[in-house]
Amino acid sequence: MGLSVAYHLAEQGTRNVIVVDKSYLCGGASGRNGGGIRAQWSSETNVVLMQESIRMCRVFARRMKINVWFRQGGYLFLARTLPMQRTLEASVALQRECGVRTEMLTPAQAAKIVPELDTNQLVAASYNPDDGVVFPWPFVWGFANAAEKYGVKVLPFHEVIGIRTRGTAIESVVLRNDVREFSIATSRVVNAAGAWSPTVAKLVGIELPNKPHRHEICSSEPLKPWLKPLVADLSDGLYFSQSTRGEIVGGIGQSYVPHGLNQESSFAFLGKYARSLARTCPALGAVKVLRQWAGCYDLTPDANPIFGPVKEIDEFYQVSGFMGHGFMMAPIVGKRLADHLAHGNQEPLFERWRLSRFAEGKLLSEGMILG
Ligand SMILES: Cc1cc2nc3c(=O)[nH]c(=O)nc-3n(C[C@H](O)[C@H](O)[C@H](O)COP(=O)(O)OP(=O)(O)OC[C@H]3O[C@@H](n4cnc5c(N)ncnc54)[C@H](O)[C@@H]3O)c2cc1C
Repeated sequence: MGLSVAYHLAEQGTRNVIVVDKSYLCGGASGRNGGGIRAQWSSETNVVLMQESIRMCRVFARRMKINVWFRQGGYLFLARTLPMQRTLEASVALQRECGVRTEMLTPAQAAKIVPELDTNQLVAASYNPDDGVVFPWPFVWGFANAAEKYGVKVLPFHEVIGIRTRGTAIESVVLRNDVREFSIATSRVVNAAGAWSPTVAKLVGIELPNKPHRHEICSSEPLKPWLKPLVADLSDGLYFSQSTRGEIVGGIGQSYVPHGLNQESSFAFLGKYARSLARTCPALGAVKVLRQWAGCYDLTPDANPIFGPVKEIDEFYQVSGFMGHGFMMAPIVGKRLADHLAHGNQEPLFERWRLSRFAEGKLLSEGMILG
């Protein structure tokens, strides 16, 4: 998110943009995710944003001069119950109104796309051929390299430890690296610290309702290419796709995991994932896992982000709370924030995704959340 904002700012001619990260550039969720990119959502806002983000992903490699292994094999959502089927049907109707090519499928039609699926317990599926997957690391590097070419300073291993204010105005950001502490004078800060964003917001006295939540993922031994779409099951949050290197990369929802900044892997995850994967696609039961890792989702109480200025501090912008879909939204969300910062564009998302909606009790909803 931070790199996308910075890149789009600098591309439009804004100077003196600095991105700081307390870790290496792929140390947060953006270097640990499944790379899934989809327009299959249940709210018009998310569908329309993702149509634009997918368009941006299509030209990303050419613009940034880096191969991000973007492949549009579609997303195949599976429904195992009638209520789940109704959720998919309502979402598909909305997506089609927005011009997305999603279709409802019978289990037999789903099996034409993935013949290895066990369709016995399926009642329906939905499929959008334009959804896809990227390899996250080059995507992050692509934003960073291109931003640097436009003059952005990207400083990994620099932790924000303080933000000095006078009244409601920001004066400077205090940083720490492994050698020293120093400050950078600025009147504007964008908090794109993902699962750590509540800690950073607290530095200016802002309480965010976001909670970090570990999400695990794993990658198998490489197989001959056979799986075209990313397959996702809303009932338990299972998802898996095949990377261009042949690995099956996937994860599953773990609602039992307590909130916390925990990026450790667990054996319990492997058991849960393996059972669900083998139920969905029995042939994968014999495939060996080569690597597992974890990252943190940045959860908000209504599964929608917090985006835009806050009332209490001038020029302090929030861009966090993107749960399991911040990677796919970063291109368009970063651009929208940069357009506002550079040109003062009116941004309707600021109202929809305002922080104050939680205190006002005006929560949003989104039915197509995975994980
Ligand atoms: C396992 C997993 C699978 C996922 N799968 C998908 C998917 O398929 N598709 C999708 O769209 N999304 C997916 N997501 C979600 C997605 O990865 C995130 O929503 C997105 O990467 C968030 O980006 P961000 O820039 O907000 O946060 P991050 O990428 O986490 O970046 C925040 C950065 O802030 C830095 N930071 C924190 N505190 C400080 C500080 N005090 N000073 C300086 N720097 C600081 C951190 O080091 C970190 O690098 C997944 C997430 C996980 C964990």
